[in-house]
Amino acid sequence: MNNEKPTIHEFNLDIIYEYFSESERQGPGNCKETLKALGFIDGLTEKSKIADIGCGTGGQTMVLGENTPCEMIIGVDNCHDFIHQFKQNAQIKNLQDRVKGIVGNMENLPFQKEDFDLIWSEGAIYNIGFERGLNEWRKFLKPGGYIAVTENTWFTEERPAEIQEFWHKIYPEIDTISNKVAQMQKAGYLPIATYILPETIWTDYYTWQTFRRESFLKKYKGNKTIEEFIVSQQYEAELYYKYKAYYGYMFYIGKKM
Ligand code: SAH
Repeated sequence: MNNEKPTIHEFNLDIIYEYFSESERQGPGNCKETLKALGFIDGLTEKSKIADIGCGTGGQTMVLGENTPCEMIIGVDNCHDFIHQFKQNAQIKNLQDRVKGIVGNMENLPFQKEDFDLIWSEGAIYNIGFERGLNEWRKFLKPGGYIAVTENTWFTEERPAEIQEFWHKIYPEIDTISNKVAQMQKAGYLPIATYILPETIWTDYYTWQTFRRESFLKKYKGNKTIEEFIVSQQYEAELYYKYKAYYGYMFYIGKKM
């Protein structure tokens, strides 16, 4: 049975980090979509501070740095290698004075209460869980501050068993748009914008992986774990193309009430 294949969470993190480290983004997303979401955020000034949680190598953090006047943009990720690459990327773009990368855990963030004007998180809040992340991170926002996160979401009330079971196993919190918005409101945010990201953010991500798979398999020829990992990634991509009418990534933008 297909659904007995291991899911991504059952693999050694080092494999996952190495596999994704060469990509500008480690999850579905791109510069255009980051800028679109940023368009919903009002009132950022030279004194504002942004936290980008689960920033990876900083693809979207650099976009925030280049397109806001903010004094400080802090990217946090629990992967040392990603933060190392993040710092290099900030230097290349000459953003190192304002865009900082720190190693940290999103479940225990080293921030003060009401530190930030904006909390950003693309393709990462699922690691703590959407509802828990919204609840726990709220205290770090100033009153009237914004949160902008992306999250895998069901588009329909019902869906075929194969895809239901696949995502339920990986991320039991996957839910419908209306339930996610209700969770956001319950956590104390005014929902400002909720919209579906274009299919291309996922197809681009999977196309990049087709090339990555080849070089990765070549490097680790004969390594059964790597081969299984590649098969699991390929299976996820196949399911996306088969069932993309039923789910996808959404942006959820809220304002702390
Ligand atoms: N925002 C980036 C990366 C998304 S991938 C992008 O869109 O390109 C998810 C990221 O969450 C990875 O970089 C992973 O290392 C990070 N992550 C996973 N668990 C975490 C945790 N507990 N604390 C901090 N970061 C975490």
